[in-house]
Amino acid sequence: MGIPITADPVRVRADVRGTVQGVGFRPFVYRLAAELGLAGWVRNSPGGAAVEAEGPAPAVAEFLRLVCQDRPPRCHIASITHTPAAALGATQFEILPSDRDGPAAVSVPPDLTTCPACLRELFDPADRRFRYPFLNCTDCGPRFTILEAMPYDRSRTTMRHFPLCDRCRAEYEDPADRRFHAEPVACPACGPRLALWDPAGRDLAAGDDALRQTAEAIRAGRVVAVKGLGGFHLLCDARNEGAVAALRRRKAREEKPFAVMAPSLAWVNEQCGLSAEEVRLLTSPEAPIVLLRRRGTAGVAAGVAPGNPYLGVMLPYTPLHHLLLADLGFPVVATSGNRTDEPICTDPREALDRLGGIADVLLVHDRPIARPVDDSVVRVVLGREQVIRRARGYAPVPVPVGEPLPPVLAVGAYLKNAIAVATPGGVCLSQHLGDLETAAAAEAFARAVEDLPRFVGVRPVAAACDLHPDYQSTRYAGRCTMPAIRVQHHYAHVLACLADNGLRGPALGVAWDGTGLGTDGTAWGGEFLRVTDDGFERVAHLRPFRLPGGDRVAREPRRAALGVLYELFGPLALAHTHLPPIRAFEPAERRVLGAALANGVNAPVTSSAGRLFDAVAALVGLRQEATFEGQAAAELEWAAEAARSDEAYPFGQDGAAVDWGPAVLEVIEDVSKGVPAGEVAGRFHNTLVEMIVAVARGVGEPVVALTGGCFQNAYLLAGAVGRLTAAGFEPVCHQRVPPNDGGVALGQALAAGRQLRTESSPCA
Ligand code: ZN
Ligand code: ZN
Ligand code: FE
Repeated sequence: MGIPITADPVRVRADVRGTVQGVGFRPFVYRLAAELGLAGWVRNSPGGAAVEAEGPAPAVAEFLRLVCQDRPPRCHIASITHTPAAALGATQFEILPSDRDGPAAVSVPPDLTTCPACLRELFDPADRRFRYPFLNCTDCGPRFTILEAMPYDRSRTTMRHFPLCDRCRAEYEDPADRRFHAEPVACPACGPRLALWDPAGRDLAAGDDALRQTAEAIRAGRVVAVKGLGGFHLLCDARNEGAVAALRRRKAREEKPFAVMAPSLAWVNEQCGLSAEEVRLLTSPEAPIVLLRRRGTAGVAAGVAPGNPYLGVMLPYTPLHHLLLADLGFPVVATSGNRTDEPICTDPREALDRLGGIADVLLVHDRPIARPVDDSVVRVVLGREQVIRRARGYAPVPVPVGEPLPPVLAVGAYLKNAIAVATPGGVCLSQHLGDLETAAAAEAFARAVEDLPRFVGVRPVAAACDLHPDYQSTRYAGRCTMPAIRVQHHYAHVLACLADNGLRGPALGVAWDGTGLGTDGTAWGGEFLRVTDDGFERVAHLRPFRLPGGDRVAREPRRAALGVLYELFGPLALAHTHLPPIRAFEPAERRVLGAALANGVNAPVTSSAGRLFDAVAALVGLRQEATFEGQAAAELEWAAEAARSDEAYPFGQDGAAVDWGPAVLEVIEDVSKGVPAGEVAGRFHNTLVEMIVAVARGVGEPVVALTGGCFQNAYLLAGAVGRLTAAGFEPVCHQRVPPNDGGVALGQALAAGRQLRTESSPCA
């Protein structure tokens, strides 16, 4: 749109959409207008931000150009539309109070790690915020975790409990100051404070004393609960075997690896030898936990990540963490303060209840946390970021989907639940909410389904959910007044993967995971789906087998192995007592399971790739019983990685069923011959890769989307990407959206949104 060149002042109204709140956009606009000598105003609007600028035409044009070009680093402008307005003869530029009316299409700002300028102040004895654990500015600090409603203003954050002191107010109101309109601004005089409690909630110390005593307790080998940004962590000295063992015992967490907060990037580099992308992720504003390959196992106690070639590491990301780690100078275990797969605990009183039996002392503060937000977990695969748990720093930034979707709420799956809302700016995916079987996750889910649509200013017209009728999320969708649209689990996985790569169908989706209900009523999990804009076709799947013992199978790889052997040998499977999984059962157990398999009772049919991995891990003798989900499959991956075999086993294709039978027969033979487990594991992985290539050749779609929890397996993923590329295909994998069930809600929103768009009546 051209602006007339005249000597008279012109006035332009600009409406800006995108992530513009909580990222220093208004102060930036203010300073820009001041530099160019323009009058007018800027304010947050439910739709993003609105600006009016008045002055000489060339200056206004320059202003509009620079608003886009020089925007703050964390600001993403999705669109900016400007319209001429009548000049008012204004002489001042102002930041106006937020406009609460009008259409909403806003990105909720994510939490940002402490910026370099704030860090300098934190450790500067001459600064008035020296060692103040809650300092922040327009470039950093809490956002989503303190936000109660949009638009983003202090009065709608939990910082509303802390009236600004005169000095903070002066900074907040001074356009030249870094804290100009920094909503969570605080100082020791007016802001939140620390307190140290014993497990009964009695005060032990306050302020800097509390911090120093916390460091002392960690040094002494104690377990400490620390209230952070999105919830509580449990911390202990990561080098102290006894402290780590005590934490495991009290948390009843046997072997699942703990994450570590490192004292410095140099320490991490020494332990893990970082790639450029890994450095970028560790030091990014999102500051996630990065899964890193360890050089050795020194540096931390063996109990931190037993038998695990990877270590989950993050750097301090709040002023409180920076102070603590600087005082300590060594790595600490930093695990969510809760039971596994529950969302993180946020309230100090609740923490006494839930963590009082685990922690020796609790470091708390009085800045309320608006919602639980866990640490995100990412890794680098094939040189690129792959998010495994999407939470702090990533949520609820919208995922662009390149097509208009009606306002749909997607309630996700069951494990690793996250929900999503389709907005004009993309699909907003919530933070990781946890496994819905836990009460805390169910509560976080209930809050999120109320919270997120309101936040992004969307009134949903339908609820997308899984096909599985027994998931709490599906039941919730059924209880809603709006229509429920059921979306097949693996179809949702594939759509999520494509959207994560800026693609839509047609494509071949390879969706491999533990389990998801199929359209034929059986448990799917080793699926090849041809996906188009209109839906999907199940073009192939792994050969189905029965899982004896239902729910217990996920924790007992030997049961998956028994199911696989039963599929091949029938009742004779039970006689294979020379094989580790069969040997691992008591004779009485064998009889019960044999009867279950023979009668098909409590032995559901599945095509699950995840369970096939478990079965092979058990067959090669790696693990018969797991202490956490996916443990056996991960160990099979590590064994394969160590052996690096090029060979593959034969497999068959019987109609749509891809037959692993010939491969498993050779696995059994190799095991009997004493071939090392790693070698067998490598050949088995390579076989699965060849299966994918064979099906891709048969289907002929150029794009192949690799999705589902199994593609957290880096050996499988790298193998499939390599072989597919060599065969002329265009494989795509997950990046900013998890391959596991944490990404399912995005696919549900897309499937349901498309269905609504093409239907005349929005009823499912
Ligand atoms: Zn800062
Ligand atoms: Zn203050
Ligand atoms: Fe899944």
